[in-house]
Amino acid sequence: MTPPSHNDHMLFQIRCAGCNAPGAPVCTTCRFALVGRLPQPGSHGVQAAVPFTGRARDVILGLKYRNRRQVAAHLAGLVVNRIVANRDHVDIDVVTWAPTSASRRRERGFDQGEAIARNVARQLGLPCRRLIERSARNGPTQTGRPRLERLHGPDFRVRPNLGGLRVLIVDDVVTTGATLASAERALSEAGVESVARYAVAATPVASTAAANRRRPRLELVGPRAAA
Ligand SMILES: [Zn+2]
Repeated sequence: MTPPSHNDHMLFQIRCAGCNAPGAPVCTTCRFALVGRLPQPGSHGVQAAVPFTGRARDVILGLKYRNRRQVAAHLAGLVVNRIVANRDHVDIDVVTWAPTSASRRRERGFDQGEAIARNVARQLGLPCRRLIERSARNGPTQTGRPRLERLHGPDFRVRPNLGGLRVLIVDDVVTTGATLASAERALSEAGVESVARYAVAATPVASTAAANRRRPRLELVGPRAAA
């Protein structure tokens, strides 16, 4: 462990976002781990570059606090590779992102989705525009909101007059796909011609399904289950 007195020095030292090794924003080992395998296509209609596990998970979480710019560029490169492999890049006019909540943005100091989207756009030579805003909360209470958002996605509103645009929407991690699905609905209502949905990483479908299966089973445990 590095003693706390070395913190000032560490500010000027580049370390791997995935494993903390000094020398590069994403070290060679983590780079190889990131291109190792493709995630299973999810049922949520989002194309992801890597599964949200292992080194990929570490690097994406590392984006929050370490070498932000270089790590975002590297992760965006993985998304671009996937887009080009799918030949989707020829059918896109503009790149955008689904903005994170104001509280999360405050907490992190930036919007990860925006950072990835801007880098994807730059690498593809396409414009990146803020097309989507979170709707103001006008419900009676914030309680239960996170759960509702997980199920249905947040409420978005989009800029008017998007008719005919072919939009690429990019996110960092997709779990249920609810956020991007909600964003796509808002874009479609504004008249966009098509929406391609991509993410750096997807939570593996198998583990999500397993987690969902575990929940109801717990309710059967206990004396009443036998009755
Ligand atoms: Zn590393």
